Amino acid sequence: MSRERLYLFDTTLRDGAQTNGVDFTLADKLAIAAMLDELGIDYVEGGYPGANPADTELFATRRKLKSKFTAFGMTRRPGRSASNDPGLAMLLDAQADAICFVAKSWDYHVKVALETTLEENIASIRDSVRAAKAKGREVLLDCEHFFDGYKANPEFALACAKAAYDEGARWVVLCDTNGGALPHEVEAIVGAVVKVIPGDHVGIHAHNDTEQAVANSFAAVRAGARQIQGTLNGLGERCGNANLVSIIPTLKLKADYADVFDIGVSDAALARLAHISHALDERLNRAPNRHAPYVGDSAFATKAGIHASAIMKDPATYEHVAPERVGNRRKVLVSEQAGKSNVLAELDRVGIKADKDDPRISRLLEIVKEREAIGYAYEAADASFELLARRTLGAVPDYFDVTQFDVTVEQRYNAVGERVTVAMAVVKVKVGDDSTISAAEGNGPVNALDQALRKDLGKYQKYIAGLSLTDFRVRILNSGTEAVTRVLIESEDENGERWTTVGVSENIIDASFQALMDSIVFKLVRSKAPV
Ligand SMILES: [Zn+2]
Repeated sequence: MSRERLYLFDTTLRDGAQTNGVDFTLADKLAIAAMLDELGIDYVEGGYPGANPADTELFATRRKLKSKFTAFGMTRRPGRSASNDPGLAMLLDAQADAICFVAKSWDYHVKVALETTLEENIASIRDSVRAAKAKGREVLLDCEHFFDGYKANPEFALACAKAAYDEGARWVVLCDTNGGALPHEVEAIVGAVVKVIPGDHVGIHAHNDTEQAVANSFAAVRAGARQIQGTLNGLGERCGNANLVSIIPTLKLKADYADVFDIGVSDAALARLAHISHALDERLNRAPNRHAPYVGDSAFATKAGIHASAIMKDPATYEHVAPERVGNRRKVLVSEQAGKSNVLAELDRVGIKADKDDPRISRLLEIVKEREAIGYAYEAADASFELLARRTLGAVPDYFDVTQFDVTVEQRYNAVGERVTVAMAVVKVKVGDDSTISAAEGNGPVNALDQALRKDLGKYQKYIAGLSLTDFRVRILNSGTEAVTRVLIESEDENGERWTTVGVSENIIDASFQALMDSIVFKLVRSKAPV
């Protein structure tokens, strides 16, 4: 029996960027787009070219993704021609595979917010879709406030959607922009729409204002829609968008959907879902939701007692799906064996061959547990994990030794009477028998330390010349009575390879130093620098 294809559209980088307190840099956007691509999302909406410099830069270069990289923007302005609208021109010029237009579909909004006629609104949709098709782009139309609009004036809401479809838009997406629609309403309205526009051209974009964005997405699919729009971890303004991290496992693991639909997410990618969800939180520098369905730390945790003993006999007794399927773990007395298989899977992922009976695997597991208990986050710091594993299993050469460092921060008035802060670092490094002392200034103590460390590594200097730090994230953790600082550093090399390292200490400079050292040593290992 052949299954029907259901498409996933991620708007973490556009709608999710509206979240309070979320501010994506270009580097963030590229890294998140790569994660979404790895996951198997069909469409990745990157942003709104022209809306801010980061989004404009994002779309200035063609991004090589398997996902269709999508630019978002408005249809042509009322009263203007498509060829005489600078905003539309910018969107059409964006280096994107697809363009997602947003247009009004609620008559009240057209009259009050746009101050134009219903006919002009529909003409604007037609012209914009036609212009984007002429540019060779795949076209989507987000019908803003579709459900409210349909309740107020079904003929007009449908006419907006139909105009886009008739002009050749691949998808017409019905948006519950205010997030107030209920599942039975969504099911009924989508059911009416698919009588006019084939369901395999209809999408759903739900907001979570009644905690039903996921349910509304499924209601739309049941009624015939074949594209779901959402975000990682349900990011989005107010109460967020439909959470793809909850939707994907349901589509993959619940027979009612899994038997009927195919999605672009493979079983192997599904097993990385928890990791991807946590990686996004790390990037946003916020603690993951322990109670998140499927991927939360507590999603498969059971307190000891009768539940625990039943689970030991057969996990299916208390679990609706197997946690490993989504990359999560059972939290009942995590057995040595279970922990070991996690470590083995992680080693396999970073390309280290290991024998499961090797006693050093148990040792590595112990070290990881000890260090995670004091604040290290190896799930987020792949390069530090790899180094730890290589050190435990074999050998990472002692390329160089930092015998001493000194960092000073000075605040003073400069020649024109401005208060300035200057940081300086002095580092003593031993490479083989040669000792060198390097000093550097920086815009902060960590930056100065980084500059000094990488200034002169003797014979290794050429291997780290292309190394640069792309991100630096600090979190204060409360472990017991003492607060400790965790630093995550993301680095990039001349080939565009990226990796993340971690350091933990009561002292932020020391934590940063650990992460910087791991980054440099990782680069040397990767470059196969000779000892
Ligand atoms: Zn939205």
